Amino acid sequence: MEGSDRRALILGISGQDGSYLAELLLGKGYEVWGVVRQSPTGRFPNLTGIRDAINLVQGDLLDQITLVEALTRARPHELYNLAATSFVPASWHQPVMTAQFTAVGVTSMLEAIRITDPEIRLYQASSSEIFGATDEAPQRETTPFKPHNPYGVAKLYAHYMIASYRERYGLHASSGIAYNHESPRRPAEFVTRKVTRAAAAIKAGLERELVLGDLDATRDWGFAGDYVEAMWSMLQQETPDDYVIATGVSRSVRELVATAFGQVGLDPDDYVRIDTALLRPPDPTPLVGDPTKARERLGWQPSTSFEELIASMVDADLGRLRERREELSAP
Ligand code: GDP
Repeated sequence: MEGSDRRALILGISGQDGSYLAELLLGKGYEVWGVVRQSPTGRFPNLTGIRDAINLVQGDLLDQITLVEALTRARPHELYNLAATSFVPASWHQPVMTAQFTAVGVTSMLEAIRITDPEIRLYQASSSEIFGATDEAPQRETTPFKPHNPYGVAKLYAHYMIASYRERYGLHASSGIAYNHESPRRPAEFVTRKVTRAAAAIKAGLERELVLGDLDATRDWGFAGDYVEAMWSMLQQETPDDYVIATGVSRSVRELVATAFGQVGLDPDDYVRIDTALLRPPDPTPLVGDPTKARERLGWQPSTSFEELIASMVDADLGRLRERREELSAP
């Protein structure tokens, strides 16, 4: 662990993306540090396999002193900011906290870098939500931003701050405008995991129906494990820049449901019910990214297909149910 040439610090290491990135960086020989808000001795299910190989320090984006302390201890060459509460409907319930954490928190991080070591290379997790109610599809780096929820607005503030610090102070700071990216570690409120978890539970005879808001909604869904490769790659470039990270393919919730239920040999029509209380205002233009720049400049492209991704999520959920059953039936 100690003595590696490259050190990385990840904010949000215990989340889906943070944990995949930590695994990727460990595999590349990095010394990996992570900032967590709760006690480092707590439970971090996504970090189970690598807990002993990484260093965790307590800190909070909203408490600049803790960031400076973390930077002083870890002395990272690369810093990845993946910390955010990313469930869009929740941002309507907590718009002020969303702004503090997602927008202002990035400013405190930029200031912490500037004070401690302006040579640190920075990755900021920007989001397709900054395009929001755009008129253009697919979206690329030059598409005008038009966020339409507190999460998207806060992410756009952060996006502009990264660009401003890059220009003003010459920081090596890059933003990845990432589209939805999923995995077995995706929290269950997101629609992919909601569907794969339900398909597994229905197959196991534990649940009888799946209630969704809308089958016609579309998204550009990729695999989180592929997206962290793009993050790393951005920080290896000579010059910092912003990149759309996406598959370029739009899929509907209907296709998602058909793929997940197909994986367990069930017909979704027998189990799926629509509840319009869960319906969100429709997007005027489909959110689908054009990853050409990332492909051409970074040589990045996703390696996991939608079908493989959803199948792996269903299989992981079936595995979890099996484990739980075994635990319950253990003497
Ligand atoms: P988001 O794109 O970050 O908001 O990720 P989500 O996974 O929460 O939602 C993806 C898409 O699925 C959005 O267009 C939702 O409107 C749509 N969707 C349809 N039914 C549901 C549902 O029951 N739950 C969630 N979370 N999303 C749904």
